Amino acid sequence: MQTLAKFFRTIFLIDLLKGLWVTLKYTPQPAFTFQYPAERRPVAARFRGVLRLQVEPETGAQTCIVCDQCAKACPDELIALDGHREPGQKIKVLDYFDFNLSRCSFCGLCSEVCPTKPVKALIMSEDYELGTYSRDSQILRVDEMYDGQPIEQYSR
Ligand code: SF4
Ligand code: SF4
Repeated sequence: MQTLAKFFRTIFLIDLLKGLWVTLKYTPQPAFTFQYPAERRPVAARFRGVLRLQVEPETGAQTCIVCDQCAKACPDELIALDGHREPGQKIKVLDYFDFNLSRCSFCGLCSEVCPTKPVKALIMSEDYELGTYSRDSQILRVDEMYDGQPIEQYSR
């Protein structure tokens, strides 16, 4: 009986028609495709992209207080930083802030423990284009931590 059913399905192209019906059903709907990289898909509100340091928006001053909590919180020891204190200044100045992006699991622990307010010094940004051509460039130094990886605009 099953063989007969299969025979008629094959003869009357039932599976082909089913596939065509699915195609027809979705054809009038607007395309969901983004023309990447010209168009970039917006990320979700709590998306965890690459780590970024933030400055005070009005003054551009450093917000990181060099407390080292982010480095201690990272389970893979991917953050190394240090700073020095200028005479008469309360807040330390960052000397270096190295972040090894290549091994980051984007768990967010480092950003969660960052204590500065109202501007959090260390955030998980919306940047998701992280590919590079060398391992060395996966180690982000302090300047790259502020500015982000430059996004290459491709053209035909
Ligand atoms: S997101 Fe997680 S793995 Fe990546 S640097 Fe922060 S604590 Fe480490
Ligand atoms: S936890 Fe925040 S304030 Fe402390 S060293 Fe890390 S980035 Fe700077």
